[in-house]
Amino acid sequence: MAIVIDHDECIGCETCVELCPEVFAMMDGEEKAMVKAPDSNADCVQDAIDGCPVSAISKE
Ligand code: SF4
Repeated sequence: MAIVIDHDECIGCETCVELCPEVFAMMDGEEKAMVKAPDSNADCVQDAIDGCPVSAISKE
């Protein structure tokens, strides 16, 4: 199970970073979020999935 962000969908709103900063971060110089802990089981991952306005976050 890995957490992934669809970078074509991400609009860089930073909601996932605010909800779950231990797992998500903004990419340097880009309006896109990245996953820094793809194997995390943190509860806030689901909050970020639910909170993403464009449903760009998923678990595979
Ligand atoms: S919440 Fe969704 S759209 Fe916003 S930065 Fe995170 S992945 Fe991108």
